[in-house]
Amino acid sequence: MLDPKTRIRLRTTALAGIDYVVGILSLFAYAAVGTISYAVPLKILLAGLIFNTIFLAAIASGSTRHCRDPSLTGMQVTAACGINLVGVLMAPQVTYMFIANIFVPLAYAVLHFSRRAFLVAWVLLSVAWCGVLWLLGAEVGIAVSTRAEQTILMGSLVLVFARFIAINAEVSRLRERLHVKNKNLADATARLAELATHDELTGIWNRRKFMDLLQEERMRAERTGSGFCVAIVDVDHFKTVNDRLGHGVGDVVLKALAALLQNSMRATDRVARFGGEEFTFLLVDYNENALPVAMERMREAVERHDWQRIAPGLAVTVSAGVAAWRWGESTGQVLNRADTALYEAKNAGRNCIRIAPN
Ligand code: GH3
Ligand code: MG
Ligand code: MG
Repeated sequence: MLDPKTRIRLRTTALAGIDYVVGILSLFAYAAVGTISYAVPLKILLAGLIFNTIFLAAIASGSTRHCRDPSLTGMQVTAACGINLVGVLMAPQVTYMFIANIFVPLAYAVLHFSRRAFLVAWVLLSVAWCGVLWLLGAEVGIAVSTRAEQTILMGSLVLVFARFIAINAEVSRLRERLHVKNKNLADATARLAELATHDELTGIWNRRKFMDLLQEERMRAERTGSGFCVAIVDVDHFKTVNDRLGHGVGDVVLKALAALLQNSMRATDRVARFGGEEFTFLLVDYNENALPVAMERMREAVERHDWQRIAPGLAVTVSAGVAAWRWGESTGQVLNRADTALYEAKNAGRNCIRIAPN
């Protein structure tokens, strides 16, 4: 089974082959009206078919997959330009046909050529073509002496335009696919970044992000001499909520609670879901008097919330332990003291706040 990239490469190479044959049609027309010998288009057709078969076989075998140019675009463009040059030497009376034919394979180069490759192609083409034109001198021609030849000229030009536009349409299709892929990749990266820092259920910061914020705040506090507090908020008897109303309702309660906690504090305070039915606060710019008031306000907001809207008879309360950071203390130490305070709040009957002594 071919992988999608190889399939695209084979499709592009096959299209190049078909395009090549279309390009030779006008040479057959010139042969039919006697301008050139049939040997010219036949030889060119044969050479093109041999090259195209080799390219298709090499790509299909998978051996080009690890090359720098897995589509062999460079070789394909070189082969096409080389055959055109030989064609001019065989039939200089229709030189313009071969010149027009160069631009079509060059359009394929847009897919893979680097800026350097374009520069090299320009130099090589210029040297080769100027050399050949110099060599042929006055033999170079357009072949328009009869109405038939003029008609072939027009027909071949119409074909060149069509081929050029068809290739560009294909390039544009590939670019569009690439654009969609890039967009999907950007969306996936954004989703990963969101998952790395946010809790999936409630959408607020997760434990990892909270620990980062806490660490940052500790460093800032050590540098500036400012303080901060940490609070751990735990739902009272949450297991009973799950047991009585089911895990689904428990999840709805946690989501509502996360929103409520976030709205009940200052915009500068950080709220995270620490895990399970535990939430943490990082509180800045509170003095000794303001802190208990703010925490009490939060506790009351939870108690007063209309939980019956989620399930009849449902009541939710929280307990919290708070600790103010001590100079030189680690983030783990301040969290441990908040946890001890929470334990005291639970022992004191729940639905209350305890502040760790400083
Ligand atoms: P306490 O007042 O002592 O804190 O009692 P509690 O029942 O709240 O505490 P316990 O630690 O015994 O139970 C916590 C419960 O939280 C158990 C667990 O199933 C539930 N829980 C944890 N994470 C989730 C979650 O994401 N969704 C739901 N629905 N429940 C969860
Ligand atoms: Mg708990
Ligand atoms: Mg609990």
